[in-house]
Amino acid sequence: MSIEVQNISKNYGTQKALDNISFKVNKGEIVGFLGPNGAGKSTLMKILTTYINADEGVAKVNDFDVKSNPINVQKSVGYLPEHNPLYLDLYVKEYLAFNADVYKVAKSRIDEVISLTGLTPESHKKIGQLSKGYRQRVGLATALLHNPDVLILDEPTTGLDPNQLAEIRDLIKNIGKDKTVFLSTHIMQEVEAICDRVIIINKGKIVTDNTIENLVQEVVEQIIEVEFDQNVSETLINLLPNLNSYSNTNGNNWELNFNTETDMRPAIFDFAQHNGLKTLQLSLKNRNLESIFREKTK
Ligand code: ADP
Ligand code: MG
Repeated sequence: MSIEVQNISKNYGTQKALDNISFKVNKGEIVGFLGPNGAGKSTLMKILTTYINADEGVAKVNDFDVKSNPINVQKSVGYLPEHNPLYLDLYVKEYLAFNADVYKVAKSRIDEVISLTGLTPESHKKIGQLSKGYRQRVGLATALLHNPDVLILDEPTTGLDPNQLAEIRDLIKNIGKDKTVFLSTHIMQEVEAICDRVIIINKGKIVTDNTIENLVQEVVEQIIEVEFDQNVSETLINLLPNLNSYSNTNGNNWELNFNTETDMRPAIFDFAQHNGLKTLQLSLKNRNLESIFREKTK
């Protein structure tokens, strides 16, 4: 198992940051850790990379326990922190050489990570002269120096322009071909573009852990709000085809959830006419992965 988190909790004073979190990441997976600001993403990543300790629970990376075996955890993981700390006065190669020393990595690895992260055309420059996108590449190159099995990337694309964003996403996908990647983001599209699976965290609790494929299935559902002119029995509502679930939201208002791609509004209109009802209002609420994220993190 690449990452194993069991019942992890963490408080900062009275502020609860993580509340009894558990999940696993298998070798080779690219998993998105999605949540609004303040949800606890960075806190968990700092625990997994041994920067801070959890109050409760067990966390393992590459089967090494973060508490009892931090050195082996550090050898197993490459970490791109949220605020990627770079020395702006150093040249790219100088900075990587400095880190290679710290990690006791052969100097030959520097050119490898430069080429792997597409830094070659900028590698003669000072970090301070690089665009945000290239600075992120330097951060990724640093994380890859010791050739770790697991990459933990904290909001790797935040603050990038659309072109840089696409480039860094491609780069992460490419690196993910032979590594396990656990990346945080607050953007659902990011997860769609890069990940196999998404874990959604809200207020320190996990609210979703599912494959993108399964979530897309959920999206096939359509929600229709309808107001009839009179009271309708549940028995009658249940006669509607493709009905997944329903709720009587208020008076003669219903929220109907259908599991089909066919627009069900004409069918509801016919259903009403057939049963001597009038539809006073009929509206389709569009659902996409973004709306799932919003629902789960309300
Ligand atoms: P995210 O990365 O999802 O935005 P964080 O893990 O940074 O969330 O923060 C989770 C919660 O813990 C937030 O309420 C944040 O304000 C709080 N927090 C984070 N770091 C500290 C700290 N060093 N001291 C006190 N509170 C903190
Ligand atoms: Mg964060």
